[in-house]
Amino acid sequence: MRIVTVVGNRPQFVKAAAVSRPLRARHEERLIHTGQHHDDALSAVFFRELDLPAPDVELALGGGSNLEQTARMIGALEPLVAEAEADAVLVYGDTNTTLAGALVAADLGVPLAHVEAGMRSFDRRMPEERNRVVTDHLAQLLLVPTPTAIRNLEREGLADRAVDVGDVMTDVTLLVHPSARERAGSWLAERGLAPGGYLLATAHRAGNVDDPDRLAALVDVLVAVGTSERPLVLPLHPRTAARLREHGEEERLRDAPGVRLLDPVGPLDFATLLVGADAVLTDSGGVQKEAYLAGVRCITLRDTTEWTETVQAGWNVLVDLNPQAAVDALATPAPAADARPPLFGDGRAGERVVAALERTFAT
Ligand code: UDP
Repeated sequence: MRIVTVVGNRPQFVKAAAVSRPLRARHEERLIHTGQHHDDALSAVFFRELDLPAPDVELALGGGSNLEQTARMIGALEPLVAEAEADAVLVYGDTNTTLAGALVAADLGVPLAHVEAGMRSFDRRMPEERNRVVTDHLAQLLLVPTPTAIRNLEREGLADRAVDVGDVMTDVTLLVHPSARERAGSWLAERGLAPGGYLLATAHRAGNVDDPDRLAALVDVLVAVGTSERPLVLPLHPRTAARLREHGEEERLRDAPGVRLLDPVGPLDFATLLVGADAVLTDSGGVQKEAYLAGVRCITLRDTTEWTETVQAGWNVLVDLNPQAAVDALATPAPAADARPPLFGDGRAGERVVAALERTFAT
């Protein structure tokens, strides 16, 4: 089989790391990187640390509005996918890169497979939700991470194309978290952090950082929960950093005594910060799941989540941008450490993705 994989940003590099290795063991993969994220901190470090093969083609299509960026990606991907003569195009998640890859495959009549299919927040204001829905409806093979995703696809009449392979991010987490735990003691101490003695935060969703009022509310939450005794460590996504500067909010965050700003960190350093944290505050999808897998309670800075199982299990609380709700959630103890049913697969999702591709597309 020849598979064209299209990736472009941080969470997609993590997901592709789980699939590329088993795929390349038996098949040919052409990896196209759209460059939606292209700097070292959001891209190259993931290839290095997660042992992801270097892209065969690396474009530089970041920046611009969602629509304009997607349009540029479509234009650039069309000839690359056409000339590859692939058995299928493989896309991941819910970004502009996902949508562009899906539209190009559909238009060229190349079969499409979607990893992390079936996730829904039921909030069509989110670009990610629109990207997922369109991609799922265009794909011939829907590789889903959870039974909830299968139920979502049933409602849209798509369940007959779905295979529950488990979560590919779990594969990577199970590899990375043991090394992170091993190095955490000294790594954290060198940075003046004590295990269990700090909070970790990430925030970059358009719905939280683009609107000035929402951005101010985000800063309110972060400033309210971080204290000198239990600091909040925030590796700052470039989008968030830019919006904070634009809207004059950077100083309020930087000067808060309980907040420590960092540049974005690579996957091993992030895992190290995660496994040592008392709790995580995030609007990321992937981080909610990683927190569950690490046994760290999560406070989600949104009013919806695609990962509803983590909420039902008692490890995740949705507080949107309400400072008091965040403070209250932090005052509530985490569930017992062993009360964590295996919700996201067994770490072998990558192999199942390859097996499903073979069953569906091998000639
Ligand atoms: N991550 C990282 N460094 C950071 C922040 C996040 O390595 O400074 C990793 C995190 O472990 C997860 C992925 O990036 O695997 C999540 O990416 P992001 O939050 O950008 O995407 P989302 O999951 O929201 O689509």
